[in-house]
Amino acid sequence: MYELIDSHAHIDEIEDIDAVISKAKQYNIISIIAVGTSFTSNRKIMALAEEYKNYVYPALGLFPWNIADDDFQDNMNFIRENINRAIGMGEIGLDYSKGVKERAAKETQKSVFRELLKIAKANNKPALIHSRYSWQDCLKISQEAHIEKAVFHWYTGPLDILDNIIDSGYYISASPAAEYHEEHRKAIKTTSIDRLLLETDSPVTYRRGTEFEYESRPADVIRTLNAVSGIKNMDKEVVAKSILENTMNVFSL
Ligand SMILES: [Zn+2]
Repeated sequence: MYELIDSHAHIDEIEDIDAVISKAKQYNIISIIAVGTSFTSNRKIMALAEEYKNYVYPALGLFPWNIADDDFQDNMNFIRENINRAIGMGEIGLDYSKGVKERAAKETQKSVFRELLKIAKANNKPALIHSRYSWQDCLKISQEAHIEKAVFHWYTGPLDILDNIIDSGYYISASPAAEYHEEHRKAIKTTSIDRLLLETDSPVTYRRGTEFEYESRPADVIRTLNAVSGIKNMDKEVVAKSILENTMNVFSL
């Protein structure tokens, strides 16, 4: 068994968290980075990090969808006031899928993203970035904000943009979709092992045709590890060790 960190999980959305954390510990998952998306979720994550001190580490964020929430401004204030107690800034970013754009226009999303990156930069926190259909803009805005540490979570975008992400010193994280999702698998194959992190994005449901369907939990980061070592044709232990080092480095653990 290898020591692993789930670098991106929405544990505020998971019930029976005590059992879920016990199971993760059984699988040698040594920490969980809990990412926030809204005012409610950020507050819950700070409470969970307090409850599971030195195991659950909080990142504060604002998912583009939640820009349209009534308590958007409260969330911005909360992030500003609490970011020094968090380990990172995320989940933040841009989402150019139709439904999200209809809720928060591109330009609005960009200006909020810039604002959040400014806070991340001022507090020297890594940015955990959601970049669905917005890969180029996410990269450009991060560079313009002089962000030093960024993780493009569950990257599925074009490989030329990925090259620039890596050249900028940034990372991507692999999710359990590495078992079957072609774009994601290509991205993992292209990225050198020293720029990869592992995650579950729990409680996302992963499905592959009729073969399997399950709602993920942090313990499933094992599945991500297995898939990544398969794609890279590398020994699991080597992959786990290298990625643990990257993760510690990104989050200054
Ligand atoms: Zn997420």
